[in-house]
Amino acid sequence: MDVHEVIVIGSGFSGQSAVIGLQKAGIEDWIVLERRSFMGGTWCQNTYPGAAVDVQSPLYSISSEPYPWSQIFAERDELERYTNFIIDKHHIRERTELNADVSALDWDDD
Ligand SMILES: Cc1cc2nc3c(=O)[nH]c(=O)nc-3n(C[C@H](O)[C@H](O)[C@H](O)COP(=O)(O)OP(=O)(O)OC[C@H]3O[C@@H](n4cnc5c(N)ncnc54)[C@H](O)[C@@H]3O)c2cc1C
Repeated sequence: MDVHEVIVIGSGFSGQSAVIGLQKAGIEDWIVLERRSFMGGTWCQNTYPGAAVDVQSPLYSISSEPYPWSQIFAERDELERYTNFIIDKHHIRERTELNADVSALDWDDD
């Protein structure tokens, strides 16, 4: 059984932000578990026409990761590119297990 100091569940912006926080805190032993066969969360999963943010993109960004958005309300393709930019910049892809659906958690007092 693999043992890690931290397991991050999901590879969307929340998971990416968690990893960035772990890296800043100097915690190196982490992995991400993602139930899908691909990474990125919302902006890689939703492809319907017109999908876009309704919060201005400079605000709808990870605060430590500004981006040269092409428009104020980014559309999903650009959000997907941003997502993958974050994932690659922080080497999250290499440490993500895909098709890993977390179905239960147990607390171990020890
Ligand atoms: C069209 C659209 C427009 C939006 N516009 C805005 C906006 O303007 N402003 C705003 O704040 N928000 C907006 N959102 C909401 C958006 O979903 C969030 O802002 C944000 O992207 C969510 O990130 P997340 O990482 O929390 O969740 P997600 O992106 O959903 O990522 C969760 C990840 O965890 C994985 N996962 C879930 N459960 C498990 C499990 N048990 N085991 C393993 N993996 C698991 C999922 O497969 C997924 O990849 C919008 C959403 C859509 C669809």
